[in-house]
Amino acid sequence: MWDIIIVGGGPAGLSAALYASRAGYGTLLLEGAFSGGQAALTSHIDNYPGFPNGITGEELGAALDSQTRRFGAKIKRAKALSLSLEGGVKRVTTKKEVLECKAVILCMGASPRKLGIEGEERFTGLGVSYCATCDGAFFKGQSVIVVGGGETAVHDALYLAQLKCDVHLVHRRDELRAVRSMRERLEKDPCITLHWDTIPLEFTGDDKIEGAQLQNVKTGKTCFLPTSAAFVAVGTEPRSALAEGVLKNERGAVITDERMHTNIEGVFAAGDVRDTPFRQVVTAAADGALAANEAIAFLAVQTR
Ligand code: NAP
Repeated sequence: MWDIIIVGGGPAGLSAALYASRAGYGTLLLEGAFSGGQAALTSHIDNYPGFPNGITGEELGAALDSQTRRFGAKIKRAKALSLSLEGGVKRVTTKKEVLECKAVILCMGASPRKLGIEGEERFTGLGVSYCATCDGAFFKGQSVIVVGGGETAVHDALYLAQLKCDVHLVHRRDELRAVRSMRERLEKDPCITLHWDTIPLEFTGDDKIEGAQLQNVKTGKTCFLPTSAAFVAVGTEPRSALAEGVLKNERGAVITDERMHTNIEGVFAAGDVRDTPFRQVVTAAADGALAANEAIAFLAVQTR
């Protein structure tokens, strides 16, 4: 039986595994297709402390992974399919086995929110993408749309501009949610056109996306914008469906106290899956460390 199983291998999960294994506890981390979670898909992370010139998401994910393994945490590439969280022995079921442990840390993160407009689903993978870092290079030098006004949309627009794309940033308000300095960077970039107070109504095309019908929400005017791709960056939704019996807010984010305890004894949550106002790599990593520390304290009481 494992002491602690961590579900999810983003910065929250990897930090939790680092702290738990370094403290000498038998730690298993289950992760999806790749290491580093959502952060690993970020082209450039400028605000994680300790890297004066920034670091790519991929590099940070790989560094966290090898640092965590150094302390003996076992990292398995296996998806948790269901969780049984009540009682002293917790069970995590994967395709191949049922794993048992004394404490669980939920670090499943969040997945991209959909716009829910006509053509979005049909052209997903055919020009509609939720990850500019993954798919941007396919559209080098072409005309592309980015939808959203948060940090992700801004990063995506700047990244695509670096690829010499003709970038159209479409945002439903005339103010960014991203930090103010970002607006200046966008405005100064000759490859970026800003469409304020604008929403996409529909993505159109034949075999792949060829354009978007846009509407100005203030004037009601519509226009057609030809495009080779649309990068949707309108926020995320917590991936909490597995966590049955755990208290969640109206967004589905797991509710914890300030020490990362959920409502179930021995079950903790960290990072973007949690109900938290600030979802950054640094806050996810800090959550993970705190959750591991609390799980360790919980185990110490159990074995006393
Ligand atoms: P976000 O901050 O929630 O921003 C989502 C954006 O999409 C908002 O501008 C929102 O508009 C817009 N939006 C939401 N639903 C929409 C809809 N149906 N139609 C059109 N627009 C819609 O999401 P995010 O940018 O993915 O960021 C998530 C978290 O990760 C944030 O806490 C962010 O700070 C963090 N993050 C950090 C970095 C970094 O460098 N450190 C990079 C990426 C993300 P409104 O503004 O009008 O609500």
